[in-house]
Amino acid sequence: MRVDFNVPLDSSKKITDDKRIVESLPSIKKVLESGGRLILMSHLGRPKGKVNADYSLAPAALRLAELLECTVTMAKDCVGTEVMKQVLALQDGEVILLENLRFHPEEEANDPDFSRELASLGEVYVNDAFGTAHRAHASTEGITHYVQTAVAGFLIERELLYLGKALQEPERPFVAILGGSKISGKIDVLENLFKKVDTVLIGGAMVFTFFKAQGYEIGNSLVEESKIELALKILEEAKAKGIKLLLPTDVILTAEISATADCHPEMITSIPEGMIGVDIGPLTTEAYRNEILSARTVLWNGPMGIFEIDNFAAGTLGVAHAMAEATAKGATTIIGGGDSAAAVAKAGLAQEMTHISTGGGASLEFLEGKELPGIAALND
Ligand code: ADP
Ligand code: MG
Repeated sequence: MRVDFNVPLDSSKKITDDKRIVESLPSIKKVLESGGRLILMSHLGRPKGKVNADYSLAPAALRLAELLECTVTMAKDCVGTEVMKQVLALQDGEVILLENLRFHPEEEANDPDFSRELASLGEVYVNDAFGTAHRAHASTEGITHYVQTAVAGFLIERELLYLGKALQEPERPFVAILGGSKISGKIDVLENLFKKVDTVLIGGAMVFTFFKAQGYEIGNSLVEESKIELALKILEEAKAKGIKLLLPTDVILTAEISATADCHPEMITSIPEGMIGVDIGPLTTEAYRNEILSARTVLWNGPMGIFEIDNFAAGTLGVAHAMAEATAKGATTIIGGGDSAAAVAKAGLAQEMTHISTGGGASLEFLEGKELPGIAALND
């Protein structure tokens, strides 16, 4: 079973957030409780194809043992005769965690021999690592060529259920909220969502490229000059398709991006020279809240402002709270994107959303309508 145990560690190798391990438990328990012999594999960090004790999965094995209240054997490597011996010694209902797959350059190279070696350890392959499903690696794609049965685990099933349903048959009205730092990073998502969405709410730094395209002064706000024409094209396309595309009417301005800098709201028609837009303003937050509360499906990707700084986080938090309210009213609320998920967690609202995607890059590619190689390769 390919899991995503790529957990954050502190300097003393303690896991600072075990969410990814906890989220893998349903699939793990299913196999163990059915009497299976479970071989887990994962990557951790970027050891760049070399053995590096700093990136050992041993802390994950310890944490998993605590969570399962059973012994978890930690393998010295992920392939080789020693590992094969340990795997053959497993009894029904026992579990072994292979050492970091990325200690071998063959993993990310999707090497066929390495894939075959991994496959030779087991009989059934389960992929439950959504976060790496957009990469064709040996443990996600290559391995499927050497096993009879390659299936999705519960975590991936859940991702496909929510992200897939939103894109294919959303309950309407379907509102998408798009933010983050760049138009260029979200343009494919926007294009794909345009096929399904009723309303789009725009926030984050990309609003300034839209504003500039419409002829407003934007001070020193982040802008992608090369995307100005694209921004105009998007506005026209929305109009042609009858999609309600909302841009902020007010923004939060500051003279410098720092935790101690002063900031204040201003209408977008009067952004002074030198000022930087760092969040959506209170009027916009209220307008977006109303749109969110009238929706049956809400998909959010990309923070509304530089939420890492508390003074610039109100718009992002406002949207997060509105989504929590919408969930309570029965709407399906979905968060995709690593920073957006972090913002929701920071607001303490993670439990109030229908679904928070576990894969930053993978959920983005899925929302762009791309096929994820690690999922396409599965036969069920
Ligand atoms: P996600 O990971 O949810 O897909 P992105 O990675 O696209 O989101 O964007 C997140 C980043 O966008 C955050 O680090 C945030 O600080 C930045 N950002 C949001 N609004 C602005 C802004 N007005 N100016 C500069 N950066 C911004
Ligand atoms: Mg991000």
